[in-house]
Amino acid sequence: MKNVATKHGQFASDNYSGICPEAWEFMQQANTGHVRSYGDDPWTEMATNSIREIFETDCEVFFVFNGTAANSLSLASLCQSYHSILCSDVAHVETDECGAPEFFSNGTKMLLIPGQNGKVQPEAIEQMVKRRTDIHFPKPRVLSLTQATELGTVYSPKELLAIKEVANKLNLKIHMDGARFANAVAGLNLSPAEITWKAGVDVLCFGGTKNGIAIGEAVVFFKKELAYEFDYRCKQAGQLASKMRFLAAPWVGMLTGGVWLKYARHANAMASYLEEQLSKKTIMPMFPREANSVFVTLPEAAQAHLRGKGWLFYSFIGKGGCRLMCSWDTTREDIDSFLTDLDECIFHHQNKHEH
Ligand SMILES: *Cc1c(COP(=O)(O)O)cnc(C)c1O
Repeated sequence: MKNVATKHGQFASDNYSGICPEAWEFMQQANTGHVRSYGDDPWTEMATNSIREIFETDCEVFFVFNGTAANSLSLASLCQSYHSILCSDVAHVETDECGAPEFFSNGTKMLLIPGQNGKVQPEAIEQMVKRRTDIHFPKPRVLSLTQATELGTVYSPKELLAIKEVANKLNLKIHMDGARFANAVAGLNLSPAEITWKAGVDVLCFGGTKNGIAIGEAVVFFKKELAYEFDYRCKQAGQLASKMRFLAAPWVGMLTGGVWLKYARHANAMASYLEEQLSKKTIMPMFPREANSVFVTLPEAAQAHLRGKGWLFYSFIGKGGCRLMCSWDTTREDIDSFLTDLDECIFHHQNKHEH
């Protein structure tokens, strides 16, 4: 059979990587005998309890297939159709979910806040909410934050607490898109509780896929009443796995002994190394690098040269620039090899100028 995977790692997205050994092993462990379906199995119970442990609280947990479902269904559960959701103008829920949050909430409007480095500021939230308070405008109800952000930055606890204060004042619930929550926790080196429910987060979409599992995200409700009938919502949306144990078991593998953080730290460290090496070539990051991605501007010719060498990376995220994303399995060799190819075209470019 033809091997269709590239030999080296890629920098396009952390979802280009495969399944980490621990997640794989637990999937295999779960593959014995018969158990009850639809989440009524020991693996789902274990995974749920592991999540309660790492968040140090009795939360409600649901496993769904992907991040779009996790975000849009959890947002829908916080809203009525006449409400609105505030988020950054580069938020995944706005730019990359094909209108799913609006669809699943039957028309809730997204209100876009221009931010800095992918983050929303408390003043901007307040401004947006106070812009219109009449009955003709959809009522602001939820604030959606992404942690780590789409631009590879991370909200500090201080920033989160300032946001919480304004959200409380304005009666907004807080949703957190944590597709790269592991990278944020690893980057801050703080407890998961500190940057979620202790900072006012009502519901977290806790990403597993980009952290190293095959399929799945956990929707974590820190206020149990907000999870009311969420199981029906998942079922109706086609997000209730009948063989749920295979969504849940990899989580047990990730959360046992801090595997999830080991890989997130690794991905962050690789991004840090990449950033450092690029800086030596005076290619500076566009945003503070606080998680596992580095954004840089590269000349079109350099981008074409790298793509010609088989490198894959995105240049459509946020406000443009090349996004170089590291993963749980990115190696120094991947990075060195990328940099060698980059050197070739920088050198080539400089030579051309001399002639
Ligand atoms: C990857 C990602 C998601 C999830 O996307 P799916 O493809 O639906 O799993 C959600 N939010 C952010 C910020 C992401 O990067």
